[in-house]
Amino acid sequence: MLTKIKKLICENKNIALVGHIMPDGDTIGSCLALGYALESQGKNVELFCQDEIPDNLCFLKGCDKFHNEIISCNYCFDLVIALDCSDPERLGIFYKLLETSNQTINIDHHISNTKFALVNWVDPTAAATCELVYELIKNLNIPINMGIANAIYTGISTDTGNFSYSNTTSKTHIIAAELLETGVQPEEMSMNIYKNNSIERVKLISKAIDTIELHEDGCISTMEITRDMLIEVGVHEKESSGMVNYAKDIKGVELALLFKEQEDGQIKVSMRSKKIVDCNELASLFGGGGHARAAGCTINTTLYNAKKIVLEEAKSFLKG
Ligand code: 5GP
Ligand code: MN
Repeated sequence: MLTKIKKLICENKNIALVGHIMPDGDTIGSCLALGYALESQGKNVELFCQDEIPDNLCFLKGCDKFHNEIISCNYCFDLVIALDCSDPERLGIFYKLLETSNQTINIDHHISNTKFALVNWVDPTAAATCELVYELIKNLNIPINMGIANAIYTGISTDTGNFSYSNTTSKTHIIAAELLETGVQPEEMSMNIYKNNSIERVKLISKAIDTIELHEDGCISTMEITRDMLIEVGVHEKESSGMVNYAKDIKGVELALLFKEQEDGQIKVSMRSKKIVDCNELASLFGGGGHARAAGCTINTTLYNAKKIVLEEAKSFLKG
């Protein structure tokens, strides 16, 4: 697989890197790291991501280089690489780039990946797509500079809950160790990613925590974020990442469900489990996907109804 990807990269000059909608640290980190690596080899690289980058990731150098509109790019790409995208819908408007290119690569770690590209490197044992990007960059014999190292570290840290989730492996730590040897400062990274909240975000956390309810004898928790709550505290929805963990980190809770009202009225559901519930399977019942311990979907109904139908399905998953 790596040989095929290396060949495509070596043979092509104009390369588009695409991250997923509602971006997280892994998709942004993967695009930035691979972007820096390929640019250092004389490639023309352009980065694409439909939605705005959360504030806590904007410290990463190069974040301002992402295009969020198709018209802002006049390139004709020889090669398009999707990073951390489990299916074409996750590319948002930039699926068009994939559709119009003959040479496409999909690098991802979601078990629900639909293998939508010409070459698909999907490894669900990787804690983050950034782990795969790191392996690729090393394989291409490209030196790891600070831009690459900080971006890879960010993706690995955010997808593993700062090295605490069950997807964290010895390989994760080996890569992190190599990144630290390159010069990554873990305290500075944690400060930037996790300890630099705006007061508005903290107020949203407070409001979201207030909505927590327990169901099924305390095995399932639900949390809600409405448009009104966002307006009241004056914060953008992209700043709500990680809040579902407050509902998960309750004694006795196996499954946490966050229901978030979208601008278009649809409901985005974030699912997190501890040991039993397969969140990917539960999310896939509603057209979504992800991983066993973290997944998501979007449902076109009211918040009240979304909660009702997801809770109904979730009950049967508790038995494992
Ligand atoms: P989050 O709840 O943080 O948005 O996402 C958790 C995980 O599920 C991430 O790995 C994310 O890529 C995946 N995920 C979230 N929403 C969707 C969705 O609507 N479709 C698919 N296929 N994956 C999703
Ligand atoms: Mn990821």
